[in-house]
Amino acid sequence: MDVSPPPPAISAISVTPQGTALHHDEDWVLRAACREADTGLFYSADEADIRRALSFCARCEVRQECLNVAMSRQEAFGVWGGTPEAHRRRIFRRERRQRPAA
Ligand code: SF4
Repeated sequence: MDVSPPPPAISAISVTPQGTALHHDEDWVLRAACREADTGLFYSADEADIRRALSFCARCEVRQECLNVAMSRQEAFGVWGGTPEAHRRRIFRRERRQRPAA
């Protein structure tokens, strides 16, 4: 009988649409409030789902770590670190506008 623990639910959101993956051995992932959540909430376009996803983030002890990953990877999709995708996209657009032309 296999007694290993099940993979955390966050694994479904740890692979982004761009195919990047989190390192599952990063211990912050194991402390995520969304480990047992329906990961579909975090990629839904429905406002009620997004609010539910954000409610997990609001009580998540690793919100900053999660946000750092999303920002460093310029994650354009999903709820990460207490931010909906629209919020992060605005930040990314502003950063691109502020970058000096090459
Ligand atoms: S901040 Fe939100 S998306 Fe990130 S690990 Fe915590 S609950 Fe999950």
